[in-house]
Amino acid sequence: MIGLGIESSCDETSLGLVRDGKEILHLALFSQIESHAKFRGVVPEIASRAHLEKINLLLDECLSHSGLDFSEIAYVAVSQRPGLMGSLMIGAQMARCIHLVHGIPIVCVNHLEAHLSVVRLNIDQLQNSQEIKPIAPFPHLGLLLSGGNSSIYIHKDWNELELIGDTMDDALGEAFDKAASILGLGYPGGPEIEKSANIYEQEIISGSKKAEIPILPKLLKSQPHHELHFSFSGLKTALLNAKKDHPSISINRFCFEFQETSIELVLRNIKNAIKKTGIKTVVAGGGVLANTRLTNKLKEFALDNSVEILFPKNKILSTDNGVMVACLGYYLFTKGIKDEIDFQVSPKRIA
Ligand code: AMP
Ligand code: MG
Repeated sequence: MIGLGIESSCDETSLGLVRDGKEILHLALFSQIESHAKFRGVVPEIASRAHLEKINLLLDECLSHSGLDFSEIAYVAVSQRPGLMGSLMIGAQMARCIHLVHGIPIVCVNHLEAHLSVVRLNIDQLQNSQEIKPIAPFPHLGLLLSGGNSSIYIHKDWNELELIGDTMDDALGEAFDKAASILGLGYPGGPEIEKSANIYEQEIISGSKKAEIPILPKLLKSQPHHELHFSFSGLKTALLNAKKDHPSISINRFCFEFQETSIELVLRNIKNAIKKTGIKTVVAGGGVLANTRLTNKLKEFALDNSVEILFPKNKILSTDNGVMVACLGYYLFTKGIKDEIDFQVSPKRIA
């Protein structure tokens, strides 16, 4: 069964074709980063206009690359929530048109849940490797780290998510973006911080620089062991002050320390969530999972604690994309879920 997925919740316009919820037939993606970079954040009006400009072209690309036509597509899955209203409406309108013209059923998906489905996709087509696909049994923990979310869920079944840990202020991706801005680096901040942090780490490893006691705060040992919520604003303020107070400290070192403490917080919360729920499989997703230091630390943590942590094996699958929407759509559609043409999009995470 082949499904089309449409994603337009934020600053990526993307369509994907997936067979049986696992085989990627085509992924078409346009990132709007360049349009938003000078504002150091996503501008909703610019985002909606860019979706409108690109979405038809991406649909044409999917069909021409895969050689498929609409008669071979069983369902059209679309990101319905959460996201920017004007942006979600563009994808929704395309799904409605396809339904009206070709009679293909619509399946609305929560795009955050779609991030947690990508580990079920084969990635051989994307990177020419043979990967044994892991299966995450329900219930598992969902760790979502993106520009707008730092959350931990109990993923009980498709369409059944219980939020147990949440962002108190900035999401992790947003914190990286703001930290990069404080340090005079480009947008989006995550990849910039990671690059600079790597340079510092290499300098320490090679011995060209001596490791020093961190300037930025580490996690308090006395912090409660049941804490599942995320707060990065204190760390961000500490960075701002430290940058002013210690102008001679290198940007690379600040990046390294910021990244280390952020990752420490993610690991602490996931450890607490495992302890609290007794659930030992974690599925992670979202744009911040492009960070190799984070994924290496998650792997290490999983080994040391005898738990399984699955995350997107390819950077393009961590970001918002159409194949994750088609993938989740498959699981919902095969459960008998379909939506009416007058479905509403929503900025909210939960219906
Ligand atoms: P998303 O909201 O899922 O589209 O993800 C975008 C967010 O991920 C932005 O805030 C980026 O700064 C962040 N991000 C992307 N790549 C990295 C990286 N290598 N390290 C840390 N954060 C990243
Ligand atoms: Mg994005």
